[in-house]
Parts: sequence; C-alpha cells; structure tokens
Amino acid sequence: MGKAQKEHSILIPAIAKKTYDRLKSDIKFRRLTSNMKQAMKTLRSPFVRAELLHREVDRELKTLFKDPLVKKHVSCEAGCTACCHTQVSVTNDEATLLARKILNKEADVNLGKLYIQGIAENEADEFYKIPYHMRACIFLNESGLCSVYDDRPAVCRTNNVVSDPVECSTEEGIEKPIRLLNTPTADMLIAGAFMASLENGTLQNMVWKALIRLKEARKDKKLANRPLPNGENSL
Ligand code: SF4
Repeated sequence: MGKAQKEHSILIPAIAKKTYDRLKSDIKFRRLTSNMKQAMKTLRSPFVRAELLHREVDRELKTLFKDPLVKKHVSCEAGCTACCHTQVSVTNDEATLLARKILNKEADVNLGKLYIQGIAENEADEFYKIPYHMRACIFLNESGLCSVYDDRPAVCRTNNVVSDPVECSTEEGIEKPIRLLNTPTADMLIAGAFMASLENGTLQNMVWKALIRLKEARKDKKLANRPLPNGENSL
C-alpha cells in the first residue's frame, strides 16, 4: 500500500507522487502541496504535524464520500485486511505518533513481528518474502480491525479500492494491479507532508526506529529530572 518512490531523496507514496507529477503545474493543486509543506515546517511537534495531516486528509475524504456514487463503488469493508499485509509509507511524524501509542501501552503489538517486517526496510521484494501471516500490520487486531484507527497513517485513509477486492490479496507474495478512488486533493496534501519530512519510509521500518528514538528521549528526560546527589535539582 503506497509503496514509496524516491524524488530528490524524498520518499513519497507512489499514488501521491503520481498525482503530484500530474497536477503540479496546476496552481490550485500546487498550492495545496506548498501550504502543507509550509504548515509542517512551522509546527514543532511531530504529533501535531501528523494530526494536522490526518485531519486535512479526513476532511477531503469526508467531502468525497458525500457523493453516493463514491460510496457505491468503493468495495472496502470492515474486516477486509488485504492492504494491511503490504508495506505502508509513513512520514517520520506518523511513525512517531504510532510509536508513542506503543510506548504508552495504548496499542498492544507484537514487537518481534515488527522487527522482522522492518528488516525489509523500503524493499518490497524483501517484504513479500516474509510469510503472509507474519506480514500483517502489527496494528491489525484479532478481529481484523485497525487498533490505531484514529491515528492510522494518511495512506491508509486514502486507500479506498474501486476494483474487485479479490485483486487486493497479496497472499501469493505479489501486488496485483488494483484501482483506487481518485483522491487528488488528499494526495497533494500527502505529497506536501512527505516533502517537508526529514525522513519517510515504510511503517514497518520507521515505527521501529521511532520507538528506539522515543525510548532514548524518555531515558534522557528521566536522567535529566533525577535529583542531584547534593539535593540540588538538575536542569
Ligand atoms: S495502520 Fe491500521 S489501517 Fe493501516 S495497515 Fe496497519 S492495521 Fe491497516
């Protein structure tokens, strides 16, 4: 899902990249990308940046889904987990948001599985060598639902299939061509967030790295707040 493509050393999800290349000469659409880029650079908190992207993408999808034709043609249903067995592109901020949920014990995940999935880094071929059951997103619960639904990555939000859902399965280790709902506005916003991000990559790899980073930061904070032996407050 959203296999990332490289542009000027910035990984942008494939669908968003395609839309960006198609619409970047249109001032109205280009502005969406540059406004999102600007907003991302102004905000300091990774959590606030990720939430802003998700809010803006949701707003656009809500508008699209008001059209009864869209509802009629999207074949995704709760419990279908096909796209949750693929690599998902995330920004560093989105990965940090998800890693915080794990550290705060708001998401019960299998870290061993995340480690195995993360080894494939951004290489789809390596990822699809992992057995199907081990490829399931660590946030997919036993009922086949997303356990971090409100904080799921932007590309999980825009991934609405309009072709036969049978084609979505990657059980054989290959991604078959599928058709997705056109989400040009959301794609341009996603492109902006990915361009502004220092690092992007697959959820499987980025969440692992974010976990290590957050753990270190928490350890440092704890050390910094520990009272000094002579009773003075540190920092
Ligand atoms: S974050 Fe949620 S929606 Fe996205 S791949 Fe994982 S389980 Fe599926």
